[in-house]
Amino acid sequence: MKHPQSTGQTGPLQVDVKQLKDHPGAQEILSRDVPAPVGFSTVLVGIPEGSNLAVDLRIESVHEGVLMTGTASAEVVGECGRCLDPISYPLTVDVMQLFSWADKAQGTDTGEDEENRAVGEDLMVDVEPVLRDLMVSALPFQPVCRDDCPGLCSECGFRMEEDPEHEHEQVDPRWAALQGLKNQLNDGDDEA
Ligand SMILES: [Zn+2]
Ligand SMILES: [Zn+2]
Repeated sequence: MKHPQSTGQTGPLQVDVKQLKDHPGAQEILSRDVPAPVGFSTVLVGIPEGSNLAVDLRIESVHEGVLMTGTASAEVVGECGRCLDPISYPLTVDVMQLFSWADKAQGTDTGEDEENRAVGEDLMVDVEPVLRDLMVSALPFQPVCRDDCPGLCSECGFRMEEDPEHEHEQVDPRWAALQGLKNQLNDGDDEA
């Protein structure tokens, strides 16, 4: 028997697990491409809202709840933290998350706890926050276009890649040292 699809009520990342309740071993497959929800990003990089998020998950009924395992993949887009060039690369995260049955969950506010999520009262499981936590924490804190990106000149913003010799006129450090010595000698004179 098929459930009528209750469109509008549930998002593409919500799974009805009614049929898994009290049927340990039963499973559902959530394998689909969905538009990435908002908020899968940090300051410099992220998965653009609406871009393709491929989820491939198995949701299995176990005694304590439902165990979700599988992967989620998307294209990360952003800019290099050193030279500000656009970057993009594919990201896949492994998913393993237990949702406890509401009547077996400990405490009341388990929904906020990453380690201890619960199946909703309506026997729905919301996959989105799980994927958001996993994918956002897999984003680099300081993304670079490549490991040895030379970045920009700290003085003028020149793209160092175009001329590694690029530099600004500076007081020669040896002259600076001599200048320091001279000052010391002068100080000595003053005290004599
Ligand atoms: Zn770069
Ligand atoms: Zn410069």
